[in-house]
Amino acid sequence: MENPDRSFYSDHKFCADCNKYVSYLMSLDNSYCVECGGAVRLFSKADWESFQTELNERRAKGGRPGKRNQRGKESA
Ligand SMILES: [Zn+2]
Repeated sequence: MENPDRSFYSDHKFCADCNKYVSYLMSLDNSYCVECGGAVRLFSKADWESFQTELNERRAKGGRPGKRNQRGKESA
């Protein structure tokens, strides 16, 4: 199922003070809620955790194992 609100997240960030997704202002380092002026984050805590979980699951399933030293043939 596609999430119809996907683009919503690129225009909104989560304000912990307002406890909702809000429009935000971007500055160099941070983004700020247009409603209360507080710093906003990309996801709410719950969304962030589910995002992390999803990421870890995806990594565990399809992720490539690090094969850094596998082809370490020294030529001298
Ligand atoms: Zn706010």
